[in-house]
Amino acid sequence: MEKKEYSRRKFIQQWAGPGAALFGTVLLLNSCGSNGKPAANEENSTQSAAEPCNDFTGVSAEELDKRKRFAYTDKSEVPGNTCGNCSLYIPWKDQAECGGCLLFKGPVKAEGHCTQWAAKAE
Ligand code: SF4
Repeated sequence: MEKKEYSRRKFIQQWAGPGAALFGTVLLLNSCGSNGKPAANEENSTQSAAEPCNDFTGVSAEELDKRKRFAYTDKSEVPGNTCGNCSLYIPWKDQAECGGCLLFKGPVKAEGHCTQWAAKAE
């Protein structure tokens, strides 16, 4: 009867090669992200540099929901009432097209409007 030789060294040599290759492949795929497609945050940061009025980086879902509840729109359909002449508008330095609002976070356009519009006290 033939005696089988069980050797730890043989076992490692037999299985370490394919295992290491598999491990390397998994690491490589993880480092590539999602097929080279930029993540949502990467798109936002690119967009924010070009268009600060559309930069919603760091704005929570709750704040975005407030905006929706107040029916905010980028372009007012109410003649004479825009964010730019609303008492709750916060103008930004060096930015004529947009600013902030006291009611929710994130940019609002000077030409925008929502149901909470309030005339400035004169
Ligand atoms: S309250 Fe409405 S209209 Fe006034 S600045 Fe804010 S979003 Fe614009």
